[in-house]
Amino acid sequence: MLGGMQDFELRVPRLLDHAAREHGGREIVTYWADGHETRTSWAGIARDAKKLAQALVKMGMNPGDRIATLAMNHSRHLAAWYGAIGMGGVIHTLNPRLFDEQLVYIANHAEDRVLLYDKQFQPLVDRLKSQWTSIEQYICFDGEGPTSFEGIIALEDGHYQWHEGPERDPCMLCYTSGTTGNPKGVLYEHRSTMIHAMAGVSPWLLNISSQAVILPVVPMFHAAAWGLPFAGALSGAKFVYACVNDAAVLCRLMNQEKVTHSAGVPTVWLSMFQHIDATGEAPRYLKQVTIGGSAAPRAMIERIMGMGARVAHLWGMTETSPIGTAGAPPPHWDELSLGEQLDMVCKQGQIPFGVELRVVDDDDVEQPRDGASSGRLQIRGPWVIKRYFKAEADCVDAENWFDTGDVAVIHPDGTMQITDRAKDVIKSGGEWISSVDLENAAVGCPGVAEAAAIGIYHPKWDERPLLLVVRKAGSDVSPAEINAHLAAHVAKWWLPDEILFVDDLPHTATGKLLKTALRAQYKDHRLASVA
Ligand code: ADP
Repeated sequence: MLGGMQDFELRVPRLLDHAAREHGGREIVTYWADGHETRTSWAGIARDAKKLAQALVKMGMNPGDRIATLAMNHSRHLAAWYGAIGMGGVIHTLNPRLFDEQLVYIANHAEDRVLLYDKQFQPLVDRLKSQWTSIEQYICFDGEGPTSFEGIIALEDGHYQWHEGPERDPCMLCYTSGTTGNPKGVLYEHRSTMIHAMAGVSPWLLNISSQAVILPVVPMFHAAAWGLPFAGALSGAKFVYACVNDAAVLCRLMNQEKVTHSAGVPTVWLSMFQHIDATGEAPRYLKQVTIGGSAAPRAMIERIMGMGARVAHLWGMTETSPIGTAGAPPPHWDELSLGEQLDMVCKQGQIPFGVELRVVDDDDVEQPRDGASSGRLQIRGPWVIKRYFKAEADCVDAENWFDTGDVAVIHPDGTMQITDRAKDVIKSGGEWISSVDLENAAVGCPGVAEAAAIGIYHPKWDERPLLLVVRKAGSDVSPAEINAHLAAHVAKWWLPDEILFVDDLPHTATGKLLKTALRAQYKDHRLASVA
C-alpha cells in the first residue's frame, strides 16, 4: 500500500527555484581574481543557470553527462553547478591544485565532455588539452567573446524547464585527492545532496538561516564546498565569494559585507591571525566559524571564540558528502568553563541525525563509547558512499558500514574524537601513538610553526615517533624545549625519539600534511636512539 502523499522527487534544482522565489533579492557577491567586485542575486543565479542549461542542451549534452569546472569560488561557478545539474548533467569539480597527471587521469576517467574554467588556469588548460581525451567544449568563466560564459548564455532566453527524473539520479562527481593510488570518484545523487543540505543548515551543523552572510573559504572544488552551495540556497543565505585566498582581502570583505559565517580548513585561520597581528584589523561580524578538513588546534579555536564566534569543528570526507559530525554546543554549554568548552570543541563533535557512526577493533567488534577504546571509525547513512564511480564492487560491508580510514574514540556523551588516520598511527610496542595529538601538542609550543610526526622503524618497539618541525621565522626553539612542552601534554612514552628541523613540510592539494611523502623520504632514516 502506498501512503497518501504527493510524488515530489528530491531534485537539486528545486533548491534554486526556492531560493529565487523566496529569497530572490538576496545577494551573491564576488571578488574576482583581478580585484573587481560584482553583485548578483539568487534570482540572477537562477536566470543564468537556466540559460547555461539551454546552452548545454544545444551543445548536445545529455542527462548523465559530466560537465567539469576548474575554478575558484564565484557567482558564475555557482550558476554553472545549478545549470549543469538542472539539465540532468553531473557537475564535476576539478581541483586546480592537483598535479598535471592527476588532472589528466581524473578528467579522462570521468569522461568529462565540457570544461568551464577560470582565466587564471588558462596555462594549465593549454598544457593539458592534448591529453584530455573526452573534453569537447572549453568555456572560460571570465573570458570575453562568443565562447566565454557570458557570451554563451547571452544567446539564450532562460525559458527552460529543469530536466525531471528520479531522485536517485546522479548530480555531482568529486574525486578524493588520492594520497595513495589513483584518485577515486564519489558520485552524489540528487536525493543524497538534498537530504545532506536539509540536515546541513540545522543549528547542530552549519547553522544557517536566511540571515546568514556566508564567506566560504573552502573551495568549491573541495568536497562540494561542504555542501554550502546547496545549504545556502535552501536557506536563502547571502554569499560572499573571493577568487583569491589573501587574508587581507578576506578580512576586508568580511567587514564590508558583514559576513556572519565562514568555513574553511585550519590553515586559513593561521594566515588570518597573521593579518590581524600585523594590521590590527579583524573580522567584526562573525557568528559561526566552521573549521574542518583536518584537526583544528586548540589555540586556534580559543582565539576565534575570543572574537565572539561559535566554532563548529566539522569532521567529514568526500565519501560522506562531506559532513559527518560537527561540534555543536550541548544543552549544558553555558554552564561549562572556557577550558571545558575548548575540550569539547577540540573533539570532532556530535553525530547528527542522518548518519550513524561506530568504532570497531581489528576483528570488527564494535567498541564501547567509553572515550578510551579506540579503533577504526565506520559510518553509514543516506549521504554516505556505497560504491566509487566506475568501481566493480561496493566499498561497504554487508550492513553498509563504510570504513573511513580514520581512527577514533566515541565518548560516553556521544562526542566523536578523531585520534589519527589509520595509516598514520605510530605503532609502538603494540600500543598506538596518535600522530595528530603529537603534532597538535607540538604546534602549541612557542616557536613552532608546523610539525609532522611519523613512525620510524625501531628494532625493539617496531616504530617510534620522529617529529619534523618547521620553526617560526626568527625562532631558535630547541628539541629540549619542544620535548619539555610536549611532556606536559602527552604520555611520556609518546615523546619523539628524535626531533628534526626542516624548512617546510609537503602538503596535499587540499592542504593536509602529505604523510606518504614524508614516510617515503624518511624510509631509511635511523633514529639517533637506535644508532
Ligand atoms: P582527501 O581524503 O581527498 O584528502 P577529504 O576531505 O575527503 O580529502 O579528507 C577526509 C579526511 O580528512 C578524513 O578522513 C579525516 O582523516 C580528515 N579530517 C576531516 N575533517 C577532520 C577533522 N575535523 N579533524 C580531523 N581530521 C579530519
